[in-house]
Amino acid sequence: MSGWLIVAGLGPGADDMVTPEVSAALAQATDIVGYIPYVARVPERPGLTRHASDNRVERTRALHALEMAAAGHRVVVVSSGDPGVFAMAAAIFERVEEDPVRWHDLDIRVLPGVTAMLAASARAGAPLGHDFCAINLSDNLKPQALIERRLALAAEADFAIALYNPRSKARPDALDAAFALLRGVCRDDRPVLFARAVSTPQEDLRIVPLPEARGAMADMRTIVIIGSSRTRIVPHAGRPILYTPRTTP
Ligand code: SAH
Repeated sequence: MSGWLIVAGLGPGADDMVTPEVSAALAQATDIVGYIPYVARVPERPGLTRHASDNRVERTRALHALEMAAAGHRVVVVSSGDPGVFAMAAAIFERVEEDPVRWHDLDIRVLPGVTAMLAASARAGAPLGHDFCAINLSDNLKPQALIERRLALAAEADFAIALYNPRSKARPDALDAAFALLRGVCRDDRPVLFARAVSTPQEDLRIVPLPEARGAMADMRTIVIIGSSRTRIVPHAGRPILYTPRTTP
């Protein structure tokens, strides 16, 4: 039996945001590999072994998945959202690059998923309707100075900015520092969306002007979207519409 390795995105949380392609891969898998809460989203069944591991062991997890697939298993590595956005797909390919001969003939595929910024954007309206960028605020894998440089340049270029991993216990002040930096560059009250646990029962959306944005409004299940200078709010029954027009003045 020839094994394969699929790196799949489970979407932001809701079962109906898992793509049919990903569901089919999960149904064929012999092994599921990933961070504990993501593996828990794949139900147990006979013939399926679930390998859940801690967040910090991505390199070990990637090698383990490659080794099982090479030994003939049908392995799905799961990420939340999209596996190519601050997630496991790049971790797998780092391992492949380290030893390209060993993994040369292995069947490896990446299946996309609905990433958090798109799920959040859809809920709020269309804040990413014009040019935008995504920045990971986690400094686990890159220096803080690089994060600050990218934030400043993104604001100067007037992108809407999606911030992944905005806050953690280890970095309680990172998001407040980011807002302070953006206030210095933007000098206006553009809207900031805090979208928490989108598509789950804990979903919560909040929009405040940049001067009122505070780090404490986010946690690790929140994505923050800072509007461009063109992003605006349209009053609407139920919930205000946050959107960025496609035209520039
Ligand atoms: N691969 C994932 C991102 C992993 S980084 C994706 O494509 O979505 C983890 C960060 O994603 C979290 O800190 C949070 O900023 C964001 N995130 C993931 N799921 C989310 C959800 N349901 N609602 C809001 N933000 C989410």
